[in-house]
Amino acid sequence: MLQRRVFLRVLQHFYLGPNKSFPFGTFAAQKAGLRNKSTGPPASTERTFIAVKPDGVQRGLVGQIIQRFERRGFKLVGLKMLQVSKDLLSQHYCELTAKPFYPEVQAYMTSGPVIAMVWEGDNIVQTSRCMVGHTNPAQAQSGTIRGDFSLHVSRNVVHASDSLKGAQREIQLWFKDKDLLDWDCCYRTWTCQS
Ligand code: UDP
Ligand code: MG
Repeated sequence: MLQRRVFLRVLQHFYLGPNKSFPFGTFAAQKAGLRNKSTGPPASTERTFIAVKPDGVQRGLVGQIIQRFERRGFKLVGLKMLQVSKDLLSQHYCELTAKPFYPEVQAYMTSGPVIAMVWEGDNIVQTSRCMVGHTNPAQAQSGTIRGDFSLHVSRNVVHASDSLKGAQREIQLWFKDKDLLDWDCCYRTWTCQS
């Protein structure tokens, strides 16, 4: 043990000079996949709210939907399964509650479990909307989630926030800060330049 310490001191002195040491603590934190709490996500990084709706859960599509976001290079920072209350839904869809189709949406969205998630990455709000596809699956392109897995607007399997402001509001509505995890994804440098 003593020999190892002496050896490290000699290495440090040789490579870094007399007053510096190797950042072993930082290496250990990186190895554990944990980011310094005070740092948080990089400034250019966005977060968005994605949910697998009850039809997506019932049809066993959760894994495939999550896989699309992982495959694209986005990072999952929060996830939970819940049965949505009418109250939560009306806050989530506050712009839709007066629409004639809202009672149908309410019955659908509260009918079974939902997978609520927060994903992080560069430009994720816009990119995830493209990945999800048109609200009406009949108009959604093949290759999008709705275009590949759904047929009708009343059963369109997935939700994605439509703007940065909307994403922030929805994340706060569905998640507590403590339930979102800051962590370093080991392949980030292979999906982004910085
Ligand atoms: N919806 C519906 N009928 C409509 C319009 C919307 O059932 O004529 C449902 C559908 O599930 C949709 C959700 O309400 O995903 C929210 O509508 P929005 O216009 O916000 O579409 P989205 O952002 O989900 O693409
Ligand atoms: Mg919307």
